[in-house]
Amino acid sequence: MDLRRSFWIWFQNLDGAWREFIDFAAQWQIDSVVIWFPFSYMEGKAEDWKWPPRKGTFGNFGKEITQYAHSQGVQLICGFPLNGYDVGAFILKEHPELQATIPSELANTPKGKDSVGKIFCPSNEASQKMVQELLNILVEETGVDGFNFESGAVDYVTCHCSRCEERFQSRGETEHENKPILWEIEQINSFVHFLRNKRDGLQFSMDAIYGQVADPELLAREIDEHCTIFWGDWGNFPDRTTAKKLMSIRQNTGFLLRLQLLREPGQQALTDIIENCRELISLSPREMVGRAWIPRGWNAVKDALFAQATRDSRRSDAEFQAIIEELYARYPFRKGEEEVPPGNYNKIEGEWGFVNIV
Ligand SMILES: [Zn+2]
Repeated sequence: MDLRRSFWIWFQNLDGAWREFIDFAAQWQIDSVVIWFPFSYMEGKAEDWKWPPRKGTFGNFGKEITQYAHSQGVQLICGFPLNGYDVGAFILKEHPELQATIPSELANTPKGKDSVGKIFCPSNEASQKMVQELLNILVEETGVDGFNFESGAVDYVTCHCSRCEERFQSRGETEHENKPILWEIEQINSFVHFLRNKRDGLQFSMDAIYGQVADPELLAREIDEHCTIFWGDWGNFPDRTTAKKLMSIRQNTGFLLRLQLLREPGQQALTDIIENCRELISLSPREMVGRAWIPRGWNAVKDALFAQATRDSRRSDAEFQAIIEELYARYPFRKGEEEVPPGNYNKIEGEWGFVNIV
């Protein structure tokens, strides 16, 4: 099976330059762009969504960005939160009674504070039907090629009502390292199953950082086989010993390179990209994913090199050196520019006052 190669980005990071980003992906023969939930930031903010969602809920933008990607020969994968964020805010606006139960010891942590008011209880059938309906409209109206879901490393605290605690065995949840893995497995598998019955050929993936997943091997075994797990690490590159082990458990595996963290421009960072691509690709993953940014200056150099190194990692050091020189000339930058990457990294805005702390 051919190696699939993708760029991954938050829509806000693009600061409106989504055409430039897609053009760049096309230029470097990247198969797909994973853009995290782009639709609510253009037309129709979550605050304005209405229930039941009708055609047009997401405005014309969903169709426009997808069609543009297709016109450039690039697939568009929509990052989609199965809880929290805009989806959670929307559902709670319509149904405040679906709010999650958050234990007081987790409510005051930084992530707990972000969570409170946006997380709904997934053990209530109504919330799951609403998520399905939103996914349904996205598939029908926009023609997206697939979805990228969040992982056990999600940025929120999960529901602790008695049903959820029992179902997801979540009593020991901590803010970072001890997320209820069953929550992830059940939520992702249920929506992959739902969507596979909706349209053939949709792509599914999820992100997972080793260190944030309580039991990576369990996740590798239990996530639906149609969903590619993109494994990343706290640092820039996945640890190769763990990568090898996880590949041996599950074929449908990908690796996520957090290229955006390589802020110091220079040869070492670029050589590291090449070395890591060579070694990870030698494990025969299904997909290689580069966490990208607006493709200018230093970010363009790194992201284009990732595209080249994943396209053919067997080229010699001398060939890669020539590629690097060409990229430096093609995407010039001044030292210091890369320290604060361009693009807007703000949180999703909105006032949501639902609180249910126990
Ligand atoms: Zn619950």
